[in-house]
Amino acid sequence: MASDPFVTEERKALRDMVRGFAEKEIAPHIDDWERAGSIPLELHQKAAELGLLGLGFDESVGGSGGSSLDWFVMAEQLVLHGRSSGLLMGLFTHHVALHPVAAHGTPDQIAKFVRPTLTGEKVASLGVTEPDGGSDVANLRTTARRDGDTYVVNGAKTFITSGVRADFVVAAVRTGEPGHKGISLLIIEKGAPGFEVTRHLDKLGWDCSDTAELSFDDVRVPVENLVGTENEGFRAIMALFESERLAQTVMAYTTAQRSLELAVAWTRERSTFGRPLITRQLVRHTLADMARAVEVSREFAHGVMIRADAGEALVPQVCMAKKQASDAARFVADAALQLHGGGGYMRDTEVNRHFRDARVFSIAGGTDEILADIVTKWMGY
Ligand SMILES: Cc1cc2nc3c(=O)[nH]c(=O)nc-3n(C[C@H](O)[C@H](O)[C@H](O)COP(=O)(O)OP(=O)(O)OC[C@H]3O[C@@H](n4cnc5c(N)ncnc54)[C@H](O)[C@@H]3O)c2cc1C
Repeated sequence: MASDPFVTEERKALRDMVRGFAEKEIAPHIDDWERAGSIPLELHQKAAELGLLGLGFDESVGGSGGSSLDWFVMAEQLVLHGRSSGLLMGLFTHHVALHPVAAHGTPDQIAKFVRPTLTGEKVASLGVTEPDGGSDVANLRTTARRDGDTYVVNGAKTFITSGVRADFVVAAVRTGEPGHKGISLLIIEKGAPGFEVTRHLDKLGWDCSDTAELSFDDVRVPVENLVGTENEGFRAIMALFESERLAQTVMAYTTAQRSLELAVAWTRERSTFGRPLITRQLVRHTLADMARAVEVSREFAHGVMIRADAGEALVPQVCMAKKQASDAARFVADAALQLHGGGGYMRDTEVNRHFRDARVFSIAGGTDEILADIVTKWMGY
């Protein structure tokens, strides 16, 4: 049998290093950051010092190298031992926002935006979704009209992860004709006159990951901030959706895995009617169903990740992996909460956090319904 690329010696060492980082720098503080609704910039700097922020980015743009599989290994450990998927989302927003800039950006853009984000000095965000809709990206309405050597941007973005703290947003804007052929990516910096964070949004979960509503009122953006070619942004957005969907997949199955661990520990500890809960057949069968959901999601996702890392185009399989893992996260986190009884309903428990966080995987990075549409289209049904 071929060896599993997820368990090479290098990846075992990476796993141990990230686990140590999460146990020391995240787990003791996560409850405070959840209450604060944000994570501190110092955490970005600590993660950068270990080369974690740059993982998956080429050394030529200031990254630490490594493949997408290394990133997934790191992400699993951060959720399992940092005890929050929202933390991963807030700390690694640049994982989706920066890749188009790293791939298509000018040397100046790389020096000004990519390198300082990978060293933890700046925070990046990605602005695609608008108040009028997120699924229908081709019909976005924020406009960027060329005027001399600037673009004049008008419109709004919403549900933007890290948008409250971010120094810049890689924004999808309309520079051309209606539809997908008129969209570009533009880097808009915080502090530009007319650019405002209009709201810090309050969410069901992912509390430590700040989420913003942004507005642009005649914001002048230098043309040097255009990423790649004008009106060719749609393809770049679709490409980054692939990696975002796999990132959501990791967060979903590790949320399920961590919820299962909590449920096993709790049912061993808690006795009712003279016996530990875990000795009851009904409880054991529930745990078996939870374990099956975790294993199936993780193993299927690993298979897709390995093939995608080797260069295979796997659009429907990535959608299936995300849906499978999202379903697992919702089912397992819900069952884990139930097994905790009243304690699970209390907001300050870890199991409660995973239950609330699990709901987002069916929405962010492409909803279940949109992914189903993509699957049927690509399968030719
Ligand atoms: C916590 C969080 C963080 C996020 N972070 C970011 C971010 O950093 N940057 C960013 O740009 N966006 C971000 N998003 C936005 C996210 O990508 C969108 O919420 C998502 O794409 C759905 O868009 P929408 O909310 O506008 O829903 P809509 O597109 O309005 O859809 C509403 C409902 O209708 C369904 N629907 C839509 N079209 C169809 C159809 N044709 N057939 C059947 N059903 C359909 C959808 O599945 C959904 O259930 C974030 C969202 C959340 C919740």
